[in-house]
Amino acid sequence: MSKIIDKLSETVRGRVITAVDSDYDEARAVYNAMHDRKPRAIVRCVDSADVMAAIAASRDEGLDIAVRGGGHSVPGFGTVDDGLVVDLSTMKSVHVDGRKKVARVGGGATWGDVDHATYPFGLAAPGGVISTTGVGGLTLGGGIGYLTRRAGFSIDNLLSADVVLADGRQVNASQYENQDLFWALRGGGGNFGVVTNFEFQLHQVGDIVGGPLFYEFDDAATVLENYRDYIARAPEQLGCFFGWQIAPPLPFIPENRVGDLFCVLVTCWSGPHEDADQVFKPLRDAAEVKAELFGAMPFPALNSLFDSAVPKGMQHYWKADFITELTNEAIAAHVEHGAHTPHVSSSMHLHPINGAAQRIDAGDTAFGHRDKAFAPVIAGIWDDPADNDANIKWVKDYYDAIHPHSNSDGGYVNFMSGDDNHRSAANYGANYDKLAAVKAAYDPDNVFHVNQNILPAKRR
Ligand SMILES: Cc1cc2nc3c(=O)[nH]c(=O)nc-3n(C[C@H](O)[C@H](O)[C@H](O)COP(=O)(O)OP(=O)(O)OC[C@H]3O[C@@H](n4cnc5c(N)ncnc54)[C@H](O)[C@@H]3O)c2cc1C
Repeated sequence: MSKIIDKLSETVRGRVITAVDSDYDEARAVYNAMHDRKPRAIVRCVDSADVMAAIAASRDEGLDIAVRGGGHSVPGFGTVDDGLVVDLSTMKSVHVDGRKKVARVGGGATWGDVDHATYPFGLAAPGGVISTTGVGGLTLGGGIGYLTRRAGFSIDNLLSADVVLADGRQVNASQYENQDLFWALRGGGGNFGVVTNFEFQLHQVGDIVGGPLFYEFDDAATVLENYRDYIARAPEQLGCFFGWQIAPPLPFIPENRVGDLFCVLVTCWSGPHEDADQVFKPLRDAAEVKAELFGAMPFPALNSLFDSAVPKGMQHYWKADFITELTNEAIAAHVEHGAHTPHVSSSMHLHPINGAAQRIDAGDTAFGHRDKAFAPVIAGIWDDPADNDANIKWVKDYYDAIHPHSNSDGGYVNFMSGDDNHRSAANYGANYDKLAAVKAAYDPDNVFHVNQNILPAKRR
């Protein structure tokens, strides 16, 4: 064993997994199977002290550090060749204070862990739309999901964070201390340190009414136009995103329609159930709903409804934008390229940015694009590496067709692939210079660079 591994094994309480261990391949694997990287070691940290030790060891040896929360990063930022993986996956405790409506969440928890712990209290934290995604990466990039219109992004509900910095100290960041760091953490990704605990404001959310509504692909333009107009003014307890969906072989899909391409609205009404019919009427009136998995259900059930469609180990290539205005020309481009959706797990999802998310000023957190109407993501997801070229081409062609309609160079950092790292400045707009300054203050040597990287101000 090398000196660094010996040293780490003596210092940390969690496991230090290297190539000699039988579970090395399993431990190094991240969600996107395209990234077959071989780290020097995976350090399964159990507490902040382990995180501090891992950072100190990699700094001493000049090794790259990859921080892994849920491991969902499409660019594979949760792993690194010949470096150290700071794996937080065992740090997933969630403590709920039902009276204060606050949850303290370990840095390696998934949204499923949070849902499980908060639902019995009739509470929820705004996360994403898949329960296996990590709280860490999703939150630090922004966090768009079912409750965004009602309660804002995940970062808008972050009250404080414990952060192990590049110099090995752990500090707390909140509106009361290290305010600049707290500002940067809310959208700046994993650039500023390792968050060992998040503290979230929770909201009263028990059972919701919602689920996916399937419409004929031929009605896509009408459904999209109607969705665009309605979601701008619908009650804010309605979460809803548009997407393409090849019908999977599930009981609610008529047998003769399995494999057909539909467009879907995936919905979540967290307001009074008696209002649901009225709220959904404009969506149902736009075109005939051909299939649906819709009704009252626990919020965690909706949040995990699509987990099985995106298991670990598939190939992922994604591209993202922000859209100021979804024009009819843009809708035509979506329909043209959506028609070629290549795989049952691939889609374009169009997430709205409005309601509570827009009541916070663009300069109040690092997430710079609060004025945009939508965050689209073209999510290429498929299983066979032999199909990589064709599927990547679908994503790129689709993106090339819609990007000219976006009126913005930036996109949501969490929906991007590794080859979009150069878009960092555009992704943050007017907030980028301040982010670079905070980076210089907290991580001047860019120790945390395995991410959508923000260069420290002095080195740009
Ligand atoms: C199937 C799927 C569904 C998704 N759905 C949504 C969605 O609904 N809404 C949405 O907003 N996004 C969504 N995303 C995107 C998601 O937000 C990003 O992939 C995010 O980076 C995942 O976080 P993670 O912790 O799982 O990933 P990881 O790969 O573990 O980490 C991603 C990045 O965050 C950093 N990081 C993670 N945890 C910490 C921590 N505790 N401290 C410091 N840095 C950390 C890592 O270093 C890395 O740079 C989805 C992604 C996938 C693959």
